[in-house]
Parts: sequence; C-alpha cells; structure tokens
Amino acid sequence: MVGSANALPGSRAQFERLLAGGAPLDAAIEVCKVAEADPDDTSVGLGGIPNEDGVVQLDAACMDGRTHNSGAVAAIENILHPIEVARLVMERTDHCQIFGVGAYRFAREHGHPHTELLTDSTRALWLRWKENLSDQDDRLPPPPKSETPKSAPSKGEPPKTGFVPTRFERHGTIHCSVLALDGEVACATSTSGLGFKIPGRVGDSAIVGAGLYCDAEAGSAGSTGRGEASILACASAMIVEQLRGGSSPKDAGLEILRRIAKQTERQARWQPALLGPDGRPAFDIQFYIVGLDGRFAGVTLHGRGQGRFAVAEPAAGPRLEPLEPFFT
Ligand code: ASP
Repeated sequence: MVGSANALPGSRAQFERLLAGGAPLDAAIEVCKVAEADPDDTSVGLGGIPNEDGVVQLDAACMDGRTHNSGAVAAIENILHPIEVARLVMERTDHCQIFGVGAYRFAREHGHPHTELLTDSTRALWLRWKENLSDQDDRLPPPPKSETPKSAPSKGEPPKTGFVPTRFERHGTIHCSVLALDGEVACATSTSGLGFKIPGRVGDSAIVGAGLYCDAEAGSAGSTGRGEASILACASAMIVEQLRGGSSPKDAGLEILRRIAKQTERQARWQPALLGPDGRPAFDIQFYIVGLDGRFAGVTLHGRGQGRFAVAEPAAGPRLEPLEPFFT
C-alpha cells in the first residue's frame, strides 16, 4: 500500500486484512474513508476547506485493476463518503463520473445520509479568508489577538483561527494505491479539493488518468497537490505508462515532475504567479506509485510542506517514508 501521509491511519487498519487476502479495491477505499470521516483533516470530507461560497464540495474516484473499471463523483456536497459513491458509480452504473447535484441525488438514492461537512473551525477559516480578500469591501477582519502561525496547517492539524492560507497553500487530498499479494492493483483518491475554489471547480482527484490510474499490466499511481498541473500532464496515466515501459516507480514519478516543471514555465507566460522568485513552480505536487514487482515510490516537486508518504509492505508494516523531491 502506498499513499499520502494521511493514508497512514487507514493503512494501519487495512494492512492485515489485505495480507489475509482482502481485495485491493476494498483496502484503498477503506483507507480513504478514515480521512473522509476525520474532522481534523481539512483536505478531505468532513471538515474539508469549503469553496468560495462556504460550501464543502468533494471530488473522489476509484479504479479497479481487476476489471479495468473506474467510478468518480465531482463537486458533490453533503455526503460524508464520496469514495463509496464513486464505487457505486463504477459498480452500479454504466458511467465513469457523475457531477454535482446529480451525484448527490445518486448518493441519496443509495442510502447515503445528508451530512453537514462544514465544521466550526473550517467555517471560521472561510470567514477569515473572506474578510481578508480585499481592503475595498465592507468586511473587516477581527482585531488581531490570536497568534498567526508561520506555516500552513499540515494534514490532520485543525486550522488555526488567525491563519489565512495563500493560494498555493490550499491543497490537500488522500490517495491510496494498493498492490495485493496476488498481483492485483486498485487505487482511490478523495478530496475537498482546492480550498476556497470557484464553486463547481473539479480537480484531478475525480479525473481518472490525472489524480489516479491503475492498470493490471503495469501498476498504480495517484497524486495530491495542484490538481490543474496533474490534469494538464495526464499525470497518473503517464506514470503508469512508464511503469509499463520498464521504468522504476521513482524514475517514472520524477519524469512526470520534470514535465510538470517545464509545462509550468509555458503556462507562466500568461500566468506569472505560477512561478516563484526562483523560477520554479510556486506550487507543490506529489505522486504515490507502486509497480507490479512491489517496488514503490513517493515523489514531490519541492520537498517542502508535505514531506512524507505512507507505505505498508509485508517486509515492514505501515509507516511514513520521506518523499523523493525533484528540486533538491
Ligand atoms: N489535487 C487536489 C485538487 O487539485 C487537491 C490537493 O491535493 O491539493 O483538487
């Protein structure tokens, strides 16, 4: 099992079941559900950072290498476990993706309860963001009394009241890719997406080939971080394609990061803020990869922020390992 750092608690819970012959898709989905239900993980499900209207909109997708089928929901609201709905799309429809109100209705038809996903702390974070958007409107931030943290909240850490994340600090997601002992692969990704996004914005997590992809003949991969970069690189599918060609997971991941860095230089011609003062992408993005031979990797563009990934293998159980950075 390989995934984002916030996949560790779920991996711990699922690893023994997987070793006992559990299906890789079940494991990947159950891992995501742990983060979806955690109100302190501001990047996924309950307690996820809302969109610019203060509404939590979720993206999720799963893919099963055994059937080469996938399901996804995008911009779904008020459903605690979008990853389960993505699985229903895969198993109970002839479609690959359902969006927005249609996804919500579909989930309700299948018995998912209506759930408020905004928590008191994410509501406070959203208000603070609105109050700091402009000095030309009529909103005022409260008088400064709480301490402003120096860095973005990490996964699993509740947002600080006085903290307003910058544009590139509003990312976070859970991904889990699984290779079972019988050689079958599956993967799942779930997210509340980019914090304060434009309502209806769909990121890579709901897009098979971008935020996740697996192929029974090659391996599995998924991403966290700036979804637009992952979409524009068709990243996860490209990584799996390189595995098929014989690349190691680490080389395949670093090659996609190289492409993303080059592609961003082009995009910066019309969107200069995408590059930092050092000429490198101003955002971060990570990939989690496992090949059919059991080799795995976690790679990141910068190695700042989210510095570790979750891995569990028979030789050594669930643990966090450092991500391999492209820019050292
Ligand atoms: N990749 C997700 C998205 O762009 C969010 C993230 O991981 O930061 O929606």
